[in-house]
Amino acid sequence: MPLDPSRTVAELRELQELTGDENGAQRVAWTDTWERAREWLRGKVDGTGADEEIDPAGNQWFTLRGASERALLIGGHIDSVPNGGWLDGALNVTAGVEVLRRIAEDGTPPLTVRLVNWADEEGARFGRSLVGSSAAAGSMADQDELRSKVDANGIALPDALAEHGVDLDRALEARSQLDNAAAYLELHIEQGPVLESMDMPLGVVLGTFGVERHLVTFRGQAAHAGSTPMDKRRDALAGAAKLELEIREIAKRTGGGAVCTMGGVVTKPGIVTSVVETAECLLDQRHLDAATLASMLDEAQRASQQIAQDESIDVEWERIWNIQPILFDDELIELADESIREVAGTSHRLPSGPLHDAAEVARAGIPTVMLFVQSLRGLSHTKLEDTKPEHIELSVQALDRLAAKTLAQLAE
Ligand SMILES: [Zn+2]
Repeated sequence: MPLDPSRTVAELRELQELTGDENGAQRVAWTDTWERAREWLRGKVDGTGADEEIDPAGNQWFTLRGASERALLIGGHIDSVPNGGWLDGALNVTAGVEVLRRIAEDGTPPLTVRLVNWADEEGARFGRSLVGSSAAAGSMADQDELRSKVDANGIALPDALAEHGVDLDRALEARSQLDNAAAYLELHIEQGPVLESMDMPLGVVLGTFGVERHLVTFRGQAAHAGSTPMDKRRDALAGAAKLELEIREIAKRTGGGAVCTMGGVVTKPGIVTSVVETAECLLDQRHLDAATLASMLDEAQRASQQIAQDESIDVEWERIWNIQPILFDDELIELADESIREVAGTSHRLPSGPLHDAAEVARAGIPTVMLFVQSLRGLSHTKLEDTKPEHIELSVQALDRLAAKTLAQLAE
């Protein structure tokens, strides 16, 4: 059976028919619909000779034995957000099935080939993303927090997982799944506008952004809006407003994909008759290079202090969350670039803003790379998410070439 990329498009539509409704995809992890999707995937892999296994974190593995125990992994996630798109996550596993069929048809591969459907990538029900992949990567360190999480109906996370055969206390045993992993490949829709704006169907992902998130609080003095002259005010909102404009300049000056976002400002007392006393700003900064990210943060902090001085207010920073940039493997990036050029003529290298399961695998020390396929209008996590069928087909071809090249290189 030669590679048939158009079958992937047809199968994705079939999955959408089976697990979506008029509002979009409904394959939220740890639900009956998600279980139906896993059952569907099982049916698709049937006939390739790959064995299925659900690991202690709920990840679904299909293993095609090769001449060696060392394994090439191809991964994705069939779960979606509520009212999600038809491609986010599902493209990766469905394309992976097509590649698995082609490899099985060619005879025993030099390495073992494993397709993994990671459990709960989206974190849509309990607000914690990358559940299955972080367990397998050994980086899941927040069990206590996970135990206390409840969904919108008050169901606790451990109970929901148990209904699907997963014991949270044993989830980290999934770690042994990566023991023989020699490389990890993941195809994903871009979920952003870059490739479309460049008129490129496919791109190689260099890694995932490091992120710095802070709560920045400006403090001034509440004072009557009518009786306080303009030059006597200590207006905390002026600090927030100036900083918001400054972080855009910092991102622009830094370049290389730098992004800075003030995602929200809460002002107090927040009434029309008072100067703002406190302005709490949510700041998110991202870059692919750790040192550059650190200097962006430093610039924003220094700017905030200057602004505070100019406005006679105080400023305080509190870190909410951060993560280091995660870089993908240089050799695999080259192979991915070659594969894309062969099927599409041109290739582009870009960082990923969102985190993906691939970041967890890379963090565990497994050489990793991702391919992005163009997203129309850059939309995702909505039923409007879309990619041209011809681009989906190219992406299946590129993943297949990449898998073949990686296998050849690892077999040397
Ligand atoms: Zn995804």
